Amino acid sequence: MPDELRPIRMEVGVHRNADGSAYVEWGENKVLAVAYGPRELHPKHKQHPLKALVQCIYNMAAFSVGDRKRPGPDRRSQEISKVCSEALTHVVFVEEFPKATIDVYVEVLQAGAGTRCVGLTAASLALADAGIPMKGLVTACAAGKVGDRVVLDLSKEEDNHGDADLPVGIVVNTGEVVLMQMDGHLTKGEFDEAMGLIDGATRKIYEMQVAALKCKYQEVGE
Ligand code: ADP
Repeated sequence: MPDELRPIRMEVGVHRNADGSAYVEWGENKVLAVAYGPRELHPKHKQHPLKALVQCIYNMAAFSVGDRKRPGPDRRSQEISKVCSEALTHVVFVEEFPKATIDVYVEVLQAGAGTRCVGLTAASLALADAGIPMKGLVTACAAGKVGDRVVLDLSKEEDNHGDADLPVGIVVNTGEVVLMQMDGHLTKGEFDEAMGLIDGATRKIYEMQVAALKCKYQEVGE
């Protein structure tokens, strides 16, 4: 089905040492996000006198893919860290925490296409769990093109044979787009169709994020 999402499971508050955390399974992806902060940024010359720095550090574990991945940062992980940091900076009320840093580590334990969307969705949940004031959660999902069909949430198989991939991060409660990248080519009509699918999907995923947060805090309250 072109508008089908892979199965998604989310849990919040999964890491004892972090200020906030989330674990998301989405299709074959397994991603842990842990958030720390706000805390004083070191070295001091990196501090902004008026606002906090939001740093998202994306990493794919060496064992996360079929062939062992070379451990450590590479161009791809640096790019994903950058776009996710920028997306999260848009939602955090950074002016409330001058000179501070707010860090989210996204660890991909198992990768199966679309990890940046899973990572960003998990990262915003971890920030919410840490009690970081935000204007909304970021919810991300991709659509792409396989053959001449526009398809939501490409699986690894579809991604390998896909002609285009459009990962998008949306603040569902305001409608703002905070991440958009495109690999390959889409016509204007295909792009609109893909955005329509992503819009519907992110609303569903947002409901799951809210439910995961409520689940933790209802348990704590009982
Ligand atoms: P995303 O995971 O956001 O879709 P990419 O489009 O760069 O990002 O990667 C697509 C998929 O390719 C990943 O989800 C992962 O399954 C696989 N992949 C990425 N990097 C590697 C790597 N170094 N080795 C093996 N597989 C990889």
